[in-house]
Amino acid sequence: MTPDPQVLDRARRLLTDADRIFVLTGAGVSAESGVPTFRGEAGLWKRHRPEELATPQAFARDPRLVWEWYGWRRELVSRCLPNPAHRALATLAARSGNVSLVTQNVDDLHERAASELGRGAPAPSPPLHLHGSLFSVRCTRCSWRGPHRASIDATSLDTLPRCDQCGSLLRPDVVWFGEALDREVLQNAFERAREANLCLVVGTSAVVHPAASLPLVTRQAGGALVEVNPDDTGVSHVADAALRGPAGALLPLLIETL
Ligand code: NAD
Ligand code: ZN
Repeated sequence: MTPDPQVLDRARRLLTDADRIFVLTGAGVSAESGVPTFRGEAGLWKRHRPEELATPQAFARDPRLVWEWYGWRRELVSRCLPNPAHRALATLAARSGNVSLVTQNVDDLHERAASELGRGAPAPSPPLHLHGSLFSVRCTRCSWRGPHRASIDATSLDTLPRCDQCGSLLRPDVVWFGEALDREVLQNAFERAREANLCLVVGTSAVVHPAASLPLVTRQAGGALVEVNPDDTGVSHVADAALRGPAGALLPLLIETL
């Protein structure tokens, strides 16, 4: 995969000149890690479609079934490894010290790539998960929320994870169909996008709002926009440099000379 050298040069220059970098990632950054999209796929876990499981109604109706599905997804994702795109972004954050990473993904591959950089490397701030995380839970009654990595025992309602504070059922802390994004996370993301002088958009079709508005916010505030994606997206028309190809090949090239 050889990108257009002029576009690559332009993108490198923009990245070098920027002292506040905002990165938005989507499903495409994890594609080369083999993370399934869980959408429109055959296989469809036990003949259920994600649209029938990832909803508050489904959880209210059958929390055991929904937890069983999330337990399965957690295991699939745990077997995936960060790819060169995740590693390049972690390296960029460690080198520049002023990178805000916001992801639409619910996997933990950005975090794992950062921790693989090892001791000695400055720890970048953790990514903001706009759509939540497979490895976080929150209480269905009180306000408790936190990380949760233990395997899920979904044999019965009684074995499902429960809140330490109030004993109620815990649920995956992900944004389900029909639910609003967490307001604080969203505000924080918009603020970071506004303050940045460069937005790097990787592996997102940039059609699902409000996430898709974030690159436009950087752009409207006078910042530059660099995109990495094999295809045109909802923000390609305003990109200052659009690198066409897989993120795992292009991101390492983009940051290696910085
Ligand atoms: P999307 O499926 O709409 O778009 C994926 C984009 O990635 C496309 O533009 C595609 O051209 C691009 N792409 C494919 N392979 C790529 C590669 N190797 N390198 C770079 N780009 C590549 O996904 P989206 O924009 O993230 O938004 C849709 C929603 O799907 C989000 O809400 C997200 O939460 C959810 N989702 C998350 C995961 C995950 O956590 N890993 C996986 C699938 C879907
Ligand atoms: Zn509780």
